[in-house]
Amino acid sequence: MKVDFHFHLEEGPYSFKWLQRTASSIANLAGIEEQEHSLAWMTIQVERLQKRLSNGCFSEDWIESYMKTGQQRGIERFGIVDHLYRFDEFRSYYERHMTLDERELGRLQRYWLDRVQIGSIEEYLSAVRRMQSKGYPISLGVEADFFPGGEAELKSLLDQYELDYVIGSVHFIDGWGFDNPELQYMFEQRNLLELYTNGFDHVKQAARSGLFDIIAHLDNLKVFNYRPDEADMQELYDDVAKTLKEADVASEINTGLAYRYPVKEMCPSPSFLSKLYAHGVPITLGSDSHFPDDIGMMLEEAAQLARETGYREIVYFENRKRIRTSL
Ligand SMILES: [Zn+2]
Ligand SMILES: [Zn+2]
Repeated sequence: MKVDFHFHLEEGPYSFKWLQRTASSIANLAGIEEQEHSLAWMTIQVERLQKRLSNGCFSEDWIESYMKTGQQRGIERFGIVDHLYRFDEFRSYYERHMTLDERELGRLQRYWLDRVQIGSIEEYLSAVRRMQSKGYPISLGVEADFFPGGEAELKSLLDQYELDYVIGSVHFIDGWGFDNPELQYMFEQRNLLELYTNGFDHVKQAARSGLFDIIAHLDNLKVFNYRPDEADMQELYDDVAKTLKEADVASEINTGLAYRYPVKEMCPSPSFLSKLYAHGVPITLGSDSHFPDDIGMMLEEAAQLARETGYREIVYFENRKRIRTSL
């Protein structure tokens, strides 16, 4: 069965780049010839964009555009996981654990957090539930950031919501959001093997926390191509795979880095995936799409890689239960 179990309805910051990407997504879905560039064509684009902005990302139209495009691409099960940092209810969790002080890193990250946060989680939850009740095969999830020491706080926050699944992600190491392009220079100052060892320590703690059904994009530290030699990583990969298995947590093949980041490789790397397979760690597949025209992106290749590695099954989640299906 084809699944896309990791995608998002929207994410700021709301720059002109975001506006342009939103407009091109709408145009791609409508099948409008992008090169037309006449005044009449642009007038239609602006009207569609205006409608999208005033209705918001939780409108039925917007979610339906993911579903319809996904179904055209053969996807039968969907998992939506908006980021917790978008929502007011989790603001203090992020404030406590991200570096937000007066230094450059802190100022940049506060600027970012202020701009990605959009309101209450309730609107998101009710929007996805409405689509479930219309019969769409969607699981309702969130992508939660893991911070060492923040487990109890995150648990008490998440316990308030009925979710189908929770993805745990390491996007921050010692308070630094390493996938923010503006903070890329910080990789230059690090010993990469030490950095990855520290990052995988976060991943292992996340797995053992019992908070998550899936640990996402295990090696996304490679996002900007700062990475040690694969040969030097095998023991670390093995250790992470063993920990995931012991903690009975799934992972994923996430294609996001392969089609929209400099590293141009899925997570995990092929040799990392082999370690997951050797230890019997279940996986799901996700495009990490942030726009409807990216749904399912490169999941054929991901499934192919999984098959070549030895996987015959993938998993998805409903009501916090792991369900196996053939690949
Ligand atoms: Zn992520
Ligand atoms: Zn994501």
